This record gives sequence, C-alpha cells and structure tokens, in this order.
Amino acid sequence: MNIHEYQAKALLRSYGAPVSDGRPVLRAEDAKTAAGELDGPLWVVKAQIHAGGRGKGHFKEADAGEKGGVRLTKSVEEAAQEAKKMLGRTLVTHQTGPAGKTVNRIYIEDGSGIETELYLAILVDRATSRIAFVCSTEGGMDIEEVAAHTPEKIITFSVDPATGYQAFHGRRIAFALGLTGNQVKQCVALMATLYRLFTDKDMEMLEINPLIVTDKGDLKCLDAKMGFDGNAIYRHADIAALRDETEEDPKELAASKFDLNYIALDGEIGCMVNGAGLAMATMDIIKLYGAEPANFLDVGGGATREKVTEAFKIITSDPNVKGILVNIFGGIMRCDVIAEGVIAAVTEVGLKVPLVVRLEGTNVELGKDIIRNSGLNVIAADNLSDAAQKIVKAVKG
Ligand code: GDP
Ligand code: MN
Repeated sequence: MNIHEYQAKALLRSYGAPVSDGRPVLRAEDAKTAAGELDGPLWVVKAQIHAGGRGKGHFKEADAGEKGGVRLTKSVEEAAQEAKKMLGRTLVTHQTGPAGKTVNRIYIEDGSGIETELYLAILVDRATSRIAFVCSTEGGMDIEEVAAHTPEKIITFSVDPATGYQAFHGRRIAFALGLTGNQVKQCVALMATLYRLFTDKDMEMLEINPLIVTDKGDLKCLDAKMGFDGNAIYRHADIAALRDETEEDPKELAASKFDLNYIALDGEIGCMVNGAGLAMATMDIIKLYGAEPANFLDVGGGATREKVTEAFKIITSDPNVKGILVNIFGGIMRCDVIAEGVIAAVTEVGLKVPLVVRLEGTNVELGKDIIRNSGLNVIAADNLSDAAQKIVKAVKG
C-alpha cells in the first residue's frame, strides 16, 4: 500500500526527520489560506498522486508552456492560483502510463534553497532477505536512468538484521554522498531515524528523491515516497487510515473487499483460477498459445458461490477482456459449487464474450452437468492445454 507525499512527510516529521513546513489542500477554496500559513518567499505547489516524476510530467489538455506537477511560486496568490489550476485535472508522468492520474489533492510547501540533490532509498532486498540502503549523488532525476547509464554511481548495501542499523552505515552513506563536517553527523542521525521508521511501520520501500543539502548546508527530505507491506497493514491502524482508495485500481479494490487475490494486467483473456500456482500456470499457457492474460486472479481454496460471483463481475467489468477462462481444481473446493457460482454470475451480469470452463477434481461430473444443463453458451474443456487453446481460438479466431 502506498501513501501520498504529504502523508509520508507528516510521518517523517513525527519521527524528527528534517522536512519543510507544508499544508495539504483538498479544495481549491482552501489554497490561499494554506499558502498564507507558510513563510515564503518561495512556495512549492505539488500535485499529490501515487506516482513519481511529477515535476517532469504534464497535464492533459495543458496550455502551451504550462509546467508539470511541481511548481515553484513567489507569492501566496500565485501559489493558490497554481493549486487551483492543477486540482481536478489529469497528470501524466512516466510512472502513471498514458492514461495519467487525476489530481485530487495538492501539497503546498515552504520552498527550500537547494545546494545539491541526492538520492536515498531503503527497501527490502529479496536477494539478501535484508533491508538495504541505496544511495547516489545523482538525486532529483530518474534513478532508473542513472541505473541504466551510470550504475557505478549507485551505492547499495544491506543491514545485518542481527545488529540492525549502526552509525557506520550512516557514515558509509555520508561519504558515498560526498558529505562533510556537520552533514556527516546529520546523515548518521537521519539514516537511524529512517531505518527506525521503516521497520516500525513494516515498510516495503522508502524513497527520498531528492534528499538535499540546503543552501544553509543542512540535510532535508524534499520528496518522500513510502510503500507498506500489505500483509502487515493490520498491525498499523494509523497507516491503514492513510489509504487513498481513489488512487487504486477499482477492480483490485473490489477484489480486496472480497478477499480475492487479483492483479489487473494488460491482456485480453480474463482468468478465474484457484491457487496461485495454478493461476500462474494458466497465465503461462495462455501466453504459450499466443494470447495475453488480462489479470491474475486466485479465488482461493475455500471460495464460496458469492466469491466466485464477485470474481466474475470483476473480470467482466474490464473492457479489455475479450474472453474468459475458468480453470478450477476442486480439492477443498467442489466443482459443483464453482459451476453454480459461474452460472449465477453469468445470469446476473450477462455474458458478452466467449467463456471456456475447465473443471477437475471433487464432484467434477456434477459440476460439468450443471454447466451443460444451464443452457448457457459455455465451452467445456477437458484439460489445461485444451482449455487454453479453446479460449485463444475463440478470442483470436
Ligand atoms: P517528483 O518530480 O514527483 O519526483 O517531485 P519532487 O518533489 O522530487 O520535485 C521535483 C523537483 O522539483 C526536485 O527535484 C527539485 O529540483 C524541485 N523542487 C521541489 N521542491 C523544491 C523546493 O523547495 N525548492 C526548489 N528550489 N526546488 C524544488
Ligand atoms: Mn522526487
């Protein structure tokens, strides 16, 4: 689960990390009051969306020469004006994809004088099963670009969980970033704070890009991106409260409410499968026969008829879906329950695309009978390969 920059900065502030003063703005009419509470002489107006690259992004239907989602302004009036211009419009960045994201929230921040822009991230490194620090002197820009063209400028190392964070980790980062004097001390303290926040809140990722040296020589977190482990959110009511559902894929959101494991993808074949392994095998075989899956969907071992119906609704609500493949192994789950769920769902939402059903396992004959006798236009399949070939043929002709 991700949160907005202004929420991440509030967390940083509560842990004592250096961030600028700022005010979130949800309604255009509040922009002027919010900006008026900050000192100036620089006000930074920042679109809040769950995607990076806002500064270099552009708004849909932008005026000629109009700036992106991060704007430096010189007065309260100008700040309020820019906030109003951005609210409600669609911001496109290299991370949002061409569809972009609607800006419903703005953050107005007291502007900083910048000496240097650095890069810092903390993440869970799956290769070492440890928390890792990543830093670079090349901050402010696309870290993917730096990784592609000058990978030697990215320094990374992991922290032994037995010792946790130690001052030498912080010094190592400070020297890699070319910091001197008091900045080294600030860096050691800041990294300790960030590491503590990261572990306290079960984060997956914390990115400060840029971490700056201000014109006064101090470190400050100028941007903040945080991702939290969804499986640990139940332990953090304060983090769960920061969830912004408008930022999430509505299909994934609906799925999470019914406890379905669903990930939206770009293909044309909707898949309803039980078990993550079988779901992956199903996606693989769809690709093998020349089509692309529209989603990953694991309805789980103990799916009820209601769950199957909801899963079906989510799949059919995707306009990219040109065909559906149901591939269920009835182990704990019975094939007749699946069949009833499929029939109930089709009856309720209607079926505008071809549907192939492959059932195997407990009560398989009963399940097949239910589908056969339903009078619905369902293509039956006998095994995984047969099912995949049938749905790809039905979709591609
Ligand atoms: P992003 O484009 O979504 O990563 O948004 P950032 O918060 O990182 O802002 C993009 C860029 O705007 C930064 O790299 C800075 O160069 C600039 N910027 C942001 N805040 C300030 C500020 O307070 N003062 C100055 N001078 N520049 C800023
Ligand atoms: Mn940034």
